[in-house]
Amino acid sequence: TRLREPPKIRRLDESVVNKIAAGEVVQRPASAVKELVENSLDAGSTSISVVIKDGGLKLIQVSDNGHGIRYEDLPILCERHTTSKLSTYEDLQTINSMGFRGEALASMSYVGHVSVTTITEGQLHGYRVSYRDGVMEQEPKPCAAVKGTQILVENLFYNMIARKKTLQNSNDDYSKIVDLISRFAIHHTLHGANRADVHTVASRSKLDAIRSVYGISTARSLMEITAHGDDPARSVFKMDGLISNANYTAKKTIMVLFINDRLVECTSLKRAIEVVYSATLPKASKPFIYMSIKLPSEHIDVNIHPTKREVSLLNQECIIETIQNAVESKLLSSNTIRTFNSQA
Ligand code: ADP
Ligand code: MG
Repeated sequence: TRLREPPKIRRLDESVVNKIAAGEVVQRPASAVKELVENSLDAGSTSISVVIKDGGLKLIQVSDNGHGIRYEDLPILCERHTTSKLSTYEDLQTINSMGFRGEALASMSYVGHVSVTTITEGQLHGYRVSYRDGVMEQEPKPCAAVKGTQILVENLFYNMIARKKTLQNSNDDYSKIVDLISRFAIHHTLHGANRADVHTVASRSKLDAIRSVYGISTARSLMEITAHGDDPARSVFKMDGLISNANYTAKKTIMVLFINDRLVECTSLKRAIEVVYSATLPKASKPFIYMSIKLPSEHIDVNIHPTKREVSLLNQECIIETIQNAVESKLLSSNTIRTFNSQA
């Protein structure tokens, strides 16, 4: 019998490669919003406003008061792997910005229509420019602009029919986006002035921010917590946060976690804390947890996930154990006070 001839191997067109990668970086409207807000934070913004239409599929608009984008940089802004944040591979070890891959805006321009209005310090007017498939569509047009940058992403996934249909049917990205903005608002002490267009402005304390996004009763049942490690052989970190007390009731855990100012998820830490709650408090309520963990940047690997949603930590077990102990003693001591108060 004759063997089938092997198929020919071809090099994919760059535009095909880029489109495939784009669908991975921007998985859904909420991931686009996360990238845009992180860019605004990286640009030093103190006020960020987000407008969403049709769960983000029709329109996502993020406006900030950050440092803006230089006119000379506009032609390559949406090209893949163009960034102002990283220049050498070694920089990754000490990077403080949330972005570094130079892929977010490029990806959005491959799966949606991106337009940018921006003005830099000292300029009399700004520029408006739009992008398609990584390419600037025409020369930037001078326009009136207030401080900062406004990025508009329209018709997300217009060229990915299946994804668009699934998202239209699920219809839950709006709440995902509100949830995301709420989390940023707590850590960066912005507060949600209007949940309808998830607008945020600077406010005073983290507790104020929690009150305005999660409500008075949540804010009222929180206690401050801190923990740290300073043994180089085990772990070096500092944690401060707010956790719910025995009066709080909820069916689902809310965990707002920032590690070196990055919004991340850490399932093992979340589980570990849930275990302490169910073992320590008589009422089986799931906790509310806000934690900010800081550790030396060389102890954290930020490059394990294309969406940067997960990070990996050196000595993760030790850190989790220390935090677990801190939560336990906090819950035990607050429970004693409660009992004492109710007897008085
Ligand atoms: P990254 O954030 O990984 O650098 P992005 O594609 O998200 O890549 O953004 C590319 C570049 O565009 C950034 O490095 C930054 O210089 C610039 N940029 C993007 N958004 C903003 C913004 N809101 N304000 C100022 N500069 C921005
Ligand atoms: Mg970015």
